[in-house]
Amino acid sequence: MQFISTRGGKKVTAAEAIVKGLSENGGLYVPETFPSVSLEELESMLEMDYPERCAHVLKKYLAEFDGAELLTALKNAYGKFAGGDPAPLVRLDDNIYMLELWHGPTCAFKDMALTVLPYLLRKSCDLCGIKEEILVLVATSGDTGKAALEGFKDAPGVKIMVFYPSDGVSKMQKLQMNTQDGKNVNVVAVRGNFDDCQTAVKGIFSNPDCVKTLREKNIILSSANSINFGRLAPQIAYYFSAYCDLVSSDQIALGDLIDFAVPTGNFGNVLAAYYAKLMGLPVRRLHCASNENRIIADFLATGEYDLEREFYKTTSPSMDILISSNLERLIFEASGRNAALTAERMAGLKKDRHYKITAEELEKIKETFDGGSANEDECVEAMYDVFVDVGYTMDTHTGCAMKVVQDWFEKNKKDQTNVVIVSTANPYKFPQDVLYAVTGNDVKDSFKGIKRLHAATAMAVPKCLKELKDKTPRFTKTADRKKLFAEVLEFIEK
Ligand SMILES: *Cc1c(COP(=O)(O)O)cnc(C)c1O
Repeated sequence: MQFISTRGGKKVTAAEAIVKGLSENGGLYVPETFPSVSLEELESMLEMDYPERCAHVLKKYLAEFDGAELLTALKNAYGKFAGGDPAPLVRLDDNIYMLELWHGPTCAFKDMALTVLPYLLRKSCDLCGIKEEILVLVATSGDTGKAALEGFKDAPGVKIMVFYPSDGVSKMQKLQMNTQDGKNVNVVAVRGNFDDCQTAVKGIFSNPDCVKTLREKNIILSSANSINFGRLAPQIAYYFSAYCDLVSSDQIALGDLIDFAVPTGNFGNVLAAYYAKLMGLPVRRLHCASNENRIIADFLATGEYDLEREFYKTTSPSMDILISSNLERLIFEASGRNAALTAERMAGLKKDRHYKITAEELEKIKETFDGGSANEDECVEAMYDVFVDVGYTMDTHTGCAMKVVQDWFEKNKKDQTNVVIVSTANPYKFPQDVLYAVTGNDVKDSFKGIKRLHAATAMAVPKCLKELKDKTPRFTKTADRKKLFAEVLEFIEK
């Protein structure tokens, strides 16, 4: 399987796409064609456990990887998840399900890919004959940072550096990152919001002087952000797995169409669902949920992507994003894979902070995608409703998706299609906000929040969050976004 860039240029292998992250012209790597999974194959997947299902999907993209070794790596990665099943499906209502993707080491769905990426990257380097040291740079809106640190800590031949917006992440997320152990890790706060942070980090990748300076020190840059195909690929697998679980438990028959609803920020998670559909998974619609930063919902309504708008800080910080990187892969597909046009639009976005797709392209996207959003009150309301009605507690990001699904059924009362809501974080990652939603109580301290939320819900508190209370932060530096490369140099010279 070869990969092409959304902005044109030469084809690369899967291993090269994973090592490089972004193509030289700034485009994102996409598979040259989508491999298909037939219904017979899907049926054979019913018998498999999660790592086997994941291996089955990944092998279609990663032809040059050794299958047995890949499966072993996946078993190791998903063996770190609590409770045995890394992606359990929970039934809420007649036709609403939760796909809980937060049972991994850092309690957010990012673990689904970032526990696997270190293996994929190591193996890709070997396949490409790369002997240099790898420096992984990450810009995070909160959850990617911790999951990447945990995944790459003490990995041989790799250093990892995480940048997060100084006041754009929750207290718990900050504490999770600042207390990270491992010899090869570094964490720096960046003044500004996530978009500033992501743009500054992308700036290092696209600056030839930075790349050259590192090359001279025998270091190659790589990215663990969701633009990397190595992040996207493991995410495709859980959509297949959720479908298999619905069939196995007789909730649907093989071949029945289902919907997914996905809390959306950088568009990586929902894009993986779309790729699953393009591979043949029986998916009808994808509901994209935004918070008050409703740029994606607006885009799906109008075909216009417009950055001239206010940026809101919300209680779902991992979705406080205006520049949604992976959307480029969707508009590339919608344009009939027109790389020149995609490049032009991305240049327009950079220059004029705006682009617009054609009515035909929008029509094509709307055949699958719906957009919706939840403001802060609506998110709280949705979380409260479900807690009171069925005793289920969800986090704030998943709350936004819940609201969008409620709106969908309000508008489509007769719809019988099953909807799987992708639940992206453990509620205890955002304890004060979830506590407020389910009980109306406000507490100032995160650990008090955890205690009270436990009293209110009786949900188990994950050890990795509970034990943060007794840890001292190792990383306390805040940097100017124009000076990130100086931080990188300081780190690698240490
Ligand atoms: C990252 C994240 C999201 C957004 O996912 P994207 O792939 O960036 O769209 C939603 N919820 C949580 C909890 C996250 O960590």
